[in-house]
Amino acid sequence: MLTDTERDEYLAEIRRQVCSHCKEKPEGGPPCAPLGKPCGVELYLPELIDAVHAVHDEAMEPYRQSKEKHVCARCAYLHSCFCPCPLDYWYGPVIQAIENVDKRRERRERGHRFVSGLPAPTKADLAEATLAYERAVGLWTGCDWTTQFGNLDLDLNGWTAAEAESMAVEATDAEEVEDWTAAAQWLAQVEQNASLAESQAALAMTAANAGEWSEALEHARRAVLLEFAAGRPLWHGLPLTWQPLFNAIKDAALRTADEPKAEPTSVG
Ligand code: SF4
Ligand code: SF4
Repeated sequence: MLTDTERDEYLAEIRRQVCSHCKEKPEGGPPCAPLGKPCGVELYLPELIDAVHAVHDEAMEPYRQSKEKHVCARCAYLHSCFCPCPLDYWYGPVIQAIENVDKRRERRERGHRFVSGLPAPTKADLAEATLAYERAVGLWTGCDWTTQFGNLDLDLNGWTAAEAESMAVEATDAEEVEDWTAAAQWLAQVEQNASLAESQAALAMTAANAGEWSEALEHARRAVLLEFAAGRPLWHGLPLTWQPLFNAIKDAALRTADEPKAEPTSVG
């Protein structure tokens, strides 16, 4: 059973990866159902998520069958002369969006286990830094902003390097092959930066936990710089994933520096 927060995260990702490109959305949507446009994304979201979670396969057919079973089988429109929702057309990107959220959640859980496993902090209260770390881990894993990439203005938002590589292999047009090949390389670089930034953040937490403040700050700074270098841009309105961790570690380091030193006790 999904919590409201989990449901909201899946829906937000589908809105970002699918609805933003959907040609069938009514004016003013989404949400589309109140505007008279029924869509499985809104009517059957928990079932749709179950349908994707029931399958782990490279091929599309098992996913399609799972959707028929979990979603369409209970839909009032199943036996009508046409399906009013664009779910068939958008099902691939919907699967991608759901699996992206799954990967993020997995990384967040790993991050949570990581900070829980750290020994108790030695010098300062690291509650803020721990919170910042747990909030950020798994948030940025690849290209999650709109692009106009290459000659074909590809929007790579939500695409992985592996998916772009498949597109390059399947493409027949020379220009498409060239663009998808370049996109795969660029996406791989973005994914690598995201992963390195996450490693730097983990190192920052380990160092902070040991009271090694300058080392912790340096790792947190590198995490922020890797995000800049990947081009995950502030001008697209995305907040920097690791900036709050950097700020929290800096604050904790300053607090520690301000702590009064223990007065030497005089003997005799
Ligand atoms: S019709 Fe469905 S896929 Fe299209 S915008 Fe509305 S909810 Fe999203
Ligand atoms: S039966 Fe048609 S309208 Fe209903 S969820 Fe499936 S694709 Fe959408």
